[in-house]
Order: sequence, then structure tokens, then C-alpha cells
Amino acid sequence: MSMLDKLFSREINRRTGAHAISIYIDSATKTRKRSRSLGSSAIKASSNKNRGKNKTKITTKRAERSFFYRINIRFPWLKLVAVCIIGVAAIVDLCDLTISNTGDPYNKIRIAPMAKHVKATDRILKGKMLAALTFDDGPSPETTPRLLDILQQKDAPATFFTLGSKAAAYPDIIKREAKEAHEVASHTMHHQNLIRIPATAAISDINEAKSTLKSLLGHDPIYTRPPYGNTNDTVRTTVGTPIILWSVDSEDWRSKNVDSILATTMSEIHDGAIILMHDIYPTTVDAVPILIDTLRKEGYEFVTLSELTKIRDAKLENGASYYNFRP
Ligand code: ZN
Repeated sequence: MSMLDKLFSREINRRTGAHAISIYIDSATKTRKRSRSLGSSAIKASSNKNRGKNKTKITTKRAERSFFYRINIRFPWLKLVAVCIIGVAAIVDLCDLTISNTGDPYNKIRIAPMAKHVKATDRILKGKMLAALTFDDGPSPETTPRLLDILQQKDAPATFFTLGSKAAAYPDIIKREAKEAHEVASHTMHHQNLIRIPATAAISDINEAKSTLKSLLGHDPIYTRPPYGNTNDTVRTTVGTPIILWSVDSEDWRSKNVDSILATTMSEIHDGAIILMHDIYPTTVDAVPILIDTLRKEGYEFVTLSELTKIRDAKLENGASYYNFRP
């Protein structure tokens, strides 16, 4: 920067503020170029002559400058801050993390396991009635994979109360259920009526299922549903998880008929319902996509049990039985 430029810059700082520096320098450069063509003796006169004009130009240019231009000049670091914010937001979105909990219970859905598969934003839950689809007695290689295809296509999560014996026989299906962010829970090892067998047998059955599922999932199952919903003190003290029963029985095992499954379920449905079905019957799998569409038309959306309990702010106790999570 020449002496002339510095002079002009200082003058500008004093008179008009720092934000006009570049305009003055620009004007000064033009002045210098013109002065060179006129000769050095003309510099001073030319500069003095142009200073008045430049003031007018600057005033006009300043008026023309946009709000964002002035912000940019005054706070150049704001651009860096904006880039950082956008970068952090992108990373958070990629990692499916939650920055904060606003206290809105529906936001708690973001920390649910389903977020790995279906983002919370993909399922608008606020203002919707909620229902948890639960499937017992599987997995079955004949029916469960088809059901999983349907649930994936419909973006509907479910909770599977699997038998330990079948989980051991079809580990790939269990792993697929977990990978696609459904919940996998225990329906005991061999589907025995736990209140009709010796306590030691019941304890052994429950624990065997637990260790089988842990070896496949990498963690203990977080819910248990005893066969037939039967519980006694032995069951309650052994399960080590909340006991999840149901409030809507589709009776799919009895009817094995799509229309009956739909009619029975729709007659009992309510906000916070836990719907009991079985993923071992082809007719149940046939009914599921129709049921999902019908319930969505009625204003329902589907959640896993973990999501439902979080949204309803339910504090579950091990060994206690739960039938629904109404608002
Ligand atoms: Zn069962």
C-alpha cells in the first residue's frame, strides 16, 4: 500500500468508519493511476479534487450496500461460525445423534433403537395415536422373513417375542430383526406354561432363553412375555425384566383369517395399545400390511415398546406386568 493509500485509509477511518476502507482504497488507486498519467505534480491537486467527489460516492455506495454486506465487513468471523454450525449439524445428522432434549416427550423417540433404521423424522409421531405391533412364537423361516420385508417396506417397527429354541435354530432371522431395528424380546425357551411346571424348570427355561438371546443380540433381552401371559411369583422374581402382556388380542392363532384378524384388532384398538399377533402364521403376515394401512388412515403410527414407554414416560419395574401404555 502506498503512502497515499495509507493517508486515505486513515482519513476514512476517522470520518466514515472502518467498513468503507476498501471503497476509499479503490478510489485512491484510481486516483493514483490517473495522477500518474497526468504527472507527479498533479497528484496532490487531483487527490484533493477527488476527495470531495469520493465522499459523495462513498455515501451513495454505503446506502447501496446490503445489510449482509455490512454484516460481512463488520463481522468477518461470522462466516466461519456459520460453516462450523452447518458442519456440526451435518455430523449430528449422519451419526443420528441428539443434541438436546427439549422436554417434549416425542423428542425422546430420537434415542430409540429404531432410529438406526427409520429416522424419527420419517415417522411423524406427534399428534398421532400410537400402537406397538408385537409378534410371538417365532422366528419361522417360512413366514418371518416375509413379515420383515413388509415391515421394512411400510417403515413400521415391531417387537418380536421370540422363543429361545427357535432363535437358536434360526439365528440369522433374529440378527436381521435386530439389524433392521425391531426389538427382540424373550418369550422363554420352549413355550412351556410356566405356572404349571416346577419352579426349577421355569427358572431354567427363562434363563436359558435369556442366555440364548444374549449370545445373538450381544445383550440381555429387555422385555419378557411368558407363554399364555401366565405369571406367578417364580416368574416375576426370575425374569429380571418388565413383563409385557397385551391390550389388543388379534386372535390370529384362532381365526387364521385375514378379515377376522383385521376386524378383531380394529374393534379393540386404542391409543397406547400393545397388539398381540404371531409371526408363524401366513394369514397373520397377509393381514399385517392391510392392518398397517388401515390404522394409519385412522391416525395411528407404529412404535417399538421402548419408543412407546419413552414417549409415555413409563417407569418400568422388573417383574411387573404391563398391558398397554395409554396417554
Ligand atoms: Zn406364545
